[in-house]
Amino acid sequence: MGKKLLLEHLNVPGIQTLQVYREKGGYKSVEKALNQMTPEAIVEEVKKSGLRGRGGAGFPTGMKWSFLAKPEGKARYLVCNADESEPGTFKDRFLMEKIPHALIEGMITSSVALGANTAYIYVRGEYFYIIKILEKAIAEAYAAGWLGQNILGTGYNLDMYVQAGAGAYICGEETALLESLEGKRGNPRMKPPFPAIAGLYACPTVVNNVETIAAVVPIINMGGDEYAKIGVGKSTGTKLISAGGNINKPGVYEIDLGITVEEFLYSDEYCGGIANGKKLKACIPGGSSVPIVPGHLLLNTLAGEKRLMTYESLSDGGFVSGSMLGSGGFFVYDEDASIPYSLYTLARFYHHESCGQCSPCREGTGWLERILKRMVIDGQGKLSDIDLLAEVAKKIEGNTICPLGDAAAWPVAAAIRHFRHEFEWYVNNPHEVAKIKNGKLNAPIPHPLYEMV
Ligand code: SF4
Repeated sequence: MGKKLLLEHLNVPGIQTLQVYREKGGYKSVEKALNQMTPEAIVEEVKKSGLRGRGGAGFPTGMKWSFLAKPEGKARYLVCNADESEPGTFKDRFLMEKIPHALIEGMITSSVALGANTAYIYVRGEYFYIIKILEKAIAEAYAAGWLGQNILGTGYNLDMYVQAGAGAYICGEETALLESLEGKRGNPRMKPPFPAIAGLYACPTVVNNVETIAAVVPIINMGGDEYAKIGVGKSTGTKLISAGGNINKPGVYEIDLGITVEEFLYSDEYCGGIANGKKLKACIPGGSSVPIVPGHLLLNTLAGEKRLMTYESLSDGGFVSGSMLGSGGFFVYDEDASIPYSLYTLARFYHHESCGQCSPCREGTGWLERILKRMVIDGQGKLSDIDLLAEVAKKIEGNTICPLGDAAAWPVAAAIRHFRHEFEWYVNNPHEVAKIKNGKLNAPIPHPLYEMV
């Protein structure tokens, strides 16, 4: 059984309320931060902890904080990115719904570290009921003196606001989020300048993911060194994983970074194995933007080592044989799942969500969708379409303002690399295409090189 730092009190009745959260030790990190630590010391503890951004990129949080500019007379902001829109990722929603004060507490402690007097939680619009939960928790925190003026009599002031997004995936990109927060269309900005220099209202701003901010609480309570003892190498601490697809126990799990993928996938503590006794075909381990990996490469690296649930191990082998931990959206495909069909649904999504600012993404995502549609829906694909897909993906990758272009291109390239035979099957069996319902094949398509595990 792994450590539970974020979800320890998940099943405590009433843990959504401030009273029960306090009874379980809540808000101690705020007391410690304000009464016993300097802002610099808080940043130092976060650096020592090795905490890396839990939203997808995995950038070291303490380093990101230390980039924050501190010009005289200018406001600084903390913005929580709660625009969790990555297909297959739902762990931030879970945390905010079940233990909202974990985020509020982390926001206050982080704001103290950054010298911010205003903090925003930008929540995706579809999480309407979560917004209500957060607003209630914030109201409780104000009433109890954890927010507002002169917190704990220390002279520190902090106001916190919840802002609803309007349902655009691209607003999860930090600069698009800031544009949206300012009341504009959520178009990503060119960088530099980075938000740490010129973010919200052109003021220094830190944008962190929900889980990242919540993780600051145990780090301050236990100390950065203790936190860093959990995990392996540069993957420290615990991580929330949202597991879905063809597994026995879909849900949100808190794991110690460094357990094997095999344990996560097959043990009863976590996913409980592949549903209905089927074989494992593939997995997207870090949200829909990262490369898909076939089952045998999910469990072991090309060198034959056990694959671990860490940033490094999951990316071992690069995009040839590895993938990424990403946002922790762990999506499993069994032997009956159609990889080309799944890719088509993703291509539709990215085409729809492209903001349209740069032509490789605006036009390229449209081409990916159209080519895949004629192949997997219309049964009119050509063999040359497979290379055309790979070519379009290559033209998008690295040529766009923000990472949405890469997010649309990477899954295509990986799917063709590992499952080209399935695309060929669609081209060679046009009369079978109409019989496939919801992406479920009528019989598994055997891989020419290896057996499914
Ligand atoms: Fe917009 Fe796509 Fe360009 Fe990002 S990559 S700025 S989403 S067009």
